[in-house]
Amino acid sequence: MDAAMNSVSSVVPLHAPAVDAVAQEESALMWESVKQELHHRFGDAVYRSWISGLSFEGVHNGQALISAPSRFIREWCMSNYYDVLRELFHVHNPRIYGVDMVVRTASTQMKIADSLPPPSVKTTVSALDNNVLDAMGAALDPRYTFDNYVVGKANELAHAAAKRVAESSECIAGCNPLFLYGGVGLGKTHLMHAIAWHIRQFHPERKVVYLSAEKFMYQFIKALRFNETMAFKEQFRSVDVLMVDDVQFISGKDSTQEEFFHTFNALVDQNKQLVFSADRSPSDLEGIEERIRSRLGWGLVADIHATSYELRYGILQSKVESLTDMVVPHDVLAFLAQRITSNVRELEGALNRVIAHASLIGGAITLQSTEHVLQDLLRACEKKATIDDIQRKVAEYYNIKLSDMHSARRSSSIARPRQVAMYLAKQLTARSLPEIGRKFGGKDHTTVMHAIKRVQELMQKDTELKEDIERLQRNLNG
Ligand code: ADP
Ligand code: MG
Repeated sequence: MDAAMNSVSSVVPLHAPAVDAVAQEESALMWESVKQELHHRFGDAVYRSWISGLSFEGVHNGQALISAPSRFIREWCMSNYYDVLRELFHVHNPRIYGVDMVVRTASTQMKIADSLPPPSVKTTVSALDNNVLDAMGAALDPRYTFDNYVVGKANELAHAAAKRVAESSECIAGCNPLFLYGGVGLGKTHLMHAIAWHIRQFHPERKVVYLSAEKFMYQFIKALRFNETMAFKEQFRSVDVLMVDDVQFISGKDSTQEEFFHTFNALVDQNKQLVFSADRSPSDLEGIEERIRSRLGWGLVADIHATSYELRYGILQSKVESLTDMVVPHDVLAFLAQRITSNVRELEGALNRVIAHASLIGGAITLQSTEHVLQDLLRACEKKATIDDIQRKVAEYYNIKLSDMHSARRSSSIARPRQVAMYLAKQLTARSLPEIGRKFGGKDHTTVMHAIKRVQELMQKDTELKEDIERLQRNLNG
């Protein structure tokens, strides 16, 4: 009898209540999206070496708890990625203020909740006190310099403008602000870092701050919370060159926009140089106030186009020279440049994989080995659906208007297909929840998360819907 009781009570916790299952799924989605964002920001190599081994353990006292496979990885991630992790978690769940990392060993896994250190001020904070600029901005990637930037037709205007701004010892009237825009992975961030490096080296007296719009918002919110808005304003208004990356991020965030606008005006009035980037032109920035959009476009607007084959080949060549002594034959480079066309980050990732494979396994790099190593990637490239494709196909399938994908209409004949499209966007593309939300008429990431969950639930009960979705999925996968 005792034994039976025991076994019953030990089984109970395994059957977690439905609420926990939902929370768990939400956590898993959040972590997936945080990881994707890190992958996107730091690239394949960093992601594989440092981030892919981390696990998300849960949230405790406003801290996201992560476990790392070793002490070394823990130290490294905490000193290099603490800020960005905190930011990303906070964006997904405003109740998360910090990040804690433990080393995962067989025994710590069970006791993680008990071993949580008290919420503490991180060591990074005191290090940042010494350098206000670095605290406000984000770290610069040492690889992103003008020397490492390959110029072609697609990016020559953006490159020339960036150089001009970097080389000048003062703000350039016709180039203020400099607004760089283009698709993902085409080199916007690279150019911005290059400007900052150049100024740091040749005009060290000029105060340069580079940061993402997301970080700008995060700092602004933090300042609001701690009643430090005056200090916040002063800090930003005392820089000589302010660079804000991915400004599309502030679309729909009204109070951040407001502060951004004031900071921006104050700096322009003082003849300070501004540089912005976005994934689209100022006039196409939905969810950003008209007065801000028009001001963003006042200076020089330079777009980076999709790369040509020649440019991709040139970029590969330059990467090979900087990465390795190995010989990467012409036909391999040509093959990569031909097949991986969507963005330079993927192109680089593919090259890295080919080189890493050869140096681990030994042997020469050949076209055959390349095709073999990149099998999955090449397949993914061939049939990669975009959110636009998905919206079009789903709208067609359910016979609704494409514009309904962006609308806020709630009638289920419209809302359901829209949820299906959001679900498919999550399944078939590498876009994060906030990015998907933006593509659906500027919806919040929680709306997207809800839609995905709803579709998953429905698919379990409704075989017809499940078949519809599978059909769409096959169709989109080509
Ligand atoms: P974006 O900010 O536009 O999404 P990134 O600046 O992050 O793109 O670029 C993605 C990757 O591609 C980076 O590693 C960057 O160094 C590389 N890259 C992009 N364009 C070029 C180029 N013209 N020359 C060399 N590397 C490039
Ligand atoms: Mg970027």
